[in-house]
Amino acid sequence: MIHIDIEPRIFHFKQPAGTSRGVYTERKSWMIHLQDDSMPGKIGIGECAPLPDLSCDAIADYDKILRAMCDMYCIKGEIPYEALRPYPSMLFGLETAVMDLKAENHRIFDTPFSRGEKGITINGLVWMGNYQEMLQRMQNKIDEGFHCIKIKIGAIDFEKEIELIKIIRKHFPKKVIEIRVDANGGFNMNDALQKMERLAKYDIHSIEQPIKQKQWKEMASLCKSSTLDIALDEELIGINIPDMKREMLDTIQPKYVVIKPSLHGGMKGSKEWIDMAGERGIGSWITSALESNVGLNAVAQLCAYLYGDTITMPQGLGTGQLFNDNIQMPIVMEGEKIWFKL
Ligand SMILES: [Mg+2]
Repeated sequence: MIHIDIEPRIFHFKQPAGTSRGVYTERKSWMIHLQDDSMPGKIGIGECAPLPDLSCDAIADYDKILRAMCDMYCIKGEIPYEALRPYPSMLFGLETAVMDLKAENHRIFDTPFSRGEKGITINGLVWMGNYQEMLQRMQNKIDEGFHCIKIKIGAIDFEKEIELIKIIRKHFPKKVIEIRVDANGGFNMNDALQKMERLAKYDIHSIEQPIKQKQWKEMASLCKSSTLDIALDEELIGINIPDMKREMLDTIQPKYVVIKPSLHGGMKGSKEWIDMAGERGIGSWITSALESNVGLNAVAQLCAYLYGDTITMPQGLGTGQLFNDNIQMPIVMEGEKIWFKL
């Protein structure tokens, strides 16, 4: 017999987390605890972590649907993948729990990362602020050992942001640091191209989601005309069917896609995205999405498994150590790398 307990859980941010959807002080996840009578004493844990107002499955009757999906698993002993396509955060949590039940010490994939032999290089996140704050934050990241940082733009006046990036570049050239920017859909079609051309002057690696999602034609034209490489992020939300994924990639033809397992299809759907992107010469990296350490551990191990030795780009796994009341997992941050350490 298989049993699943679902435990809704609130995590509290050490510092309020500013996102494209406002500021969060707490975070709700649904923890899955999986037990199988044939494996007495063992529990598999997984985290279902939809983001309010952002995830396609941040829905009012989340508890009920998650319970129904878990019941389907308990009866059949198989993950109901097709039924779970519209609910990527539920799928990711269940996939994690199923693998975790069979794992020792939460080592859900066997990779050099999960054997503790290799760390994964990640980007550092720098929040916009005034000149002094920004320069200090940049310097801190460099002192910590980062070679790639991501800056959220669109928060303050664009002229001020350009000015800051210009100053940052003067102090920290491309050889020292790779800069990625994330607009979270903050530009509009009238000025997006012009703004991107101005950003491109400062050797920016890429821009995430310059305009809002669901404007495929407009986004395609930006990808075609812009000097600055575009990475799609929010665009992938809600595109859960393989044919639609192909159609979106073929229509927009971005340079990169950013993969978040909790938002973009769980483990199975993330692999689909990466494979389909790869077939089209589109690059990708994996990013966590404000999960607790349970989700972050699964995202990091998935990342090591899917990319293998082809990991060349820094990944977005720097969102750990976020909560006062986080769950203990064998992952640690050291400089610009995340490690699995028992
Ligand atoms: Mg983004």
